[in-house]
Amino acid sequence: MRTVRVAVVGAGPAGIYAAAGLVAAGPGHGVRVLVDVFDRLPTPYGLVRYGTAPDHQRIKEVVVALRAALAAPEIRFFGNVEYGGDLKLAELRQCYHAVVVATGAATDRPLTIPGADLPGSHGGADFVAWYNGHPDVPRDWPLTARSVAVLGAGNVALDIARMLAKPAAEQLATEIPDNVARGLAGNAARDIHLFARRGPADAKFTPLELRELAESPSVDVSVDPVGAEVSAAEEAAIGRSGQRRTVLRTLLDWVGREPTGAARRIHLHFRAAPVSLLGDERVETLRTERTETGPDGTITFTGEHRDWPVQAVYRAIGYRSTPLPDVPFDDAEAVVPGTAGRVVDLDHQVVPGLYATGWIRRGPVGLIGHTKSDAAETVGSLLADLAALPDPDSPGPEAIVELLRAKKIDFTTLAEWDRLDAYEISLGEASGRRRTKVVSRIAMINGGRDT
Ligand code: NAP
Repeated sequence: MRTVRVAVVGAGPAGIYAAAGLVAAGPGHGVRVLVDVFDRLPTPYGLVRYGTAPDHQRIKEVVVALRAALAAPEIRFFGNVEYGGDLKLAELRQCYHAVVVATGAATDRPLTIPGADLPGSHGGADFVAWYNGHPDVPRDWPLTARSVAVLGAGNVALDIARMLAKPAAEQLATEIPDNVARGLAGNAARDIHLFARRGPADAKFTPLELRELAESPSVDVSVDPVGAEVSAAEEAAIGRSGQRRTVLRTLLDWVGREPTGAARRIHLHFRAAPVSLLGDERVETLRTERTETGPDGTITFTGEHRDWPVQAVYRAIGYRSTPLPDVPFDDAEAVVPGTAGRVVDLDHQVVPGLYATGWIRRGPVGLIGHTKSDAAETVGSLLADLAALPDPDSPGPEAIVELLRAKKIDFTTLAEWDRLDAYEISLGEASGRRRTKVVSRIAMINGGRDT
């Protein structure tokens, strides 16, 4: 049986599902597929580790299946290797028949309104990275604002509002690192305002995540009656979507809810689009404009403004993928362009041997499960093309290891991740947490030791 070698760039769910799919489906196409999965971080699991909120352990459980996939003898993990810097596409092409990019979307979609760059205006992705102990963000986060605005009506906005509202004591049982536990303990936020530019029928929340917002006894949640009305057209547009109907019902239940006297309050405002952030040296006011939704779902601005005194703003209006060196990128859509997982160049010509999967391929929408079907399509295309792909110059499994060593790249392996994983869990047990994440990159590489 012919052996083919594939490099996957990105060890989040998208990359791991693609690797597992290739190994499983290869023999059906008469080939044995060996896959090396690379990640710029020393650890696998991408946004499951660094994007999913620490109190979402149910979602994080997917790592059990991802770890099982990585255990396949045909798959190797190389962490702490940055595509583009440490390894170029041309170097990967010398060692592999094909390359799959699966680097996801980890930065914030820009908000282009006046004042968006004022101090006190934060990218939601940066805050998410901070509370998840990402090694590349500062250890301290300013949590001095008493009134905070969160922009956007998706699940990331819910995560951020919940993390800002829940008392630190309720977060400790999770997996937050020590610096985050200290930061949250000093969080001054009392009123957290979430702003949706559309009406409640068009919120992008999912039911479970929305209900969770009101689970803490220390947090009151209410919906501002202004903007919370639902037109017949909006109601009809929900159609038979049970999820959207449940979300709408929950939101309408919360309209005008009286506060119980809880220490922190989350207020949801609909049809309130952010139009500017005002302040002399830092954010002092968020200005919103009332919108109306037309029968076709488009929104129009009414000219009716409201000003909100806030000292911090979190922009949670969606993620954006970043371009990868030597890989075509559609800047308008912020995706790698392609067809059924085959990357195409800007003239729509297929680039042989180059594939994409996950959020970098289809944009930052959908839950982890959707990534699996996406990977299956990319795997199918790659395997269908294999007969046409020439053998690489250095096809042996050691070639890449020698190259990385020659470049003095301190890569991590699966065994090293297992060591760090066990260390983090033991550290957590000692302080009553599920795990305590190690944050310093050096310590991550050294199994927890910061030297
Ligand atoms: P999202 O679901 O696409 O929501 C983005 C929100 O930002 C939308 O409400 C959007 O409004 C709004 N928005 C976009 N541009 C805006 C602007 N210029 N001004 C004001 N609002 C603007 O994105 P996300 O929250 O980043 O989530 C990404 C994906 O990850 C989603 O599929 C989500 O479900 C998933 N996720 C899941 C969980 C979980 O716990 N299950 C947690 C986090 C994320 P419009 O609708 O008007 O465009």
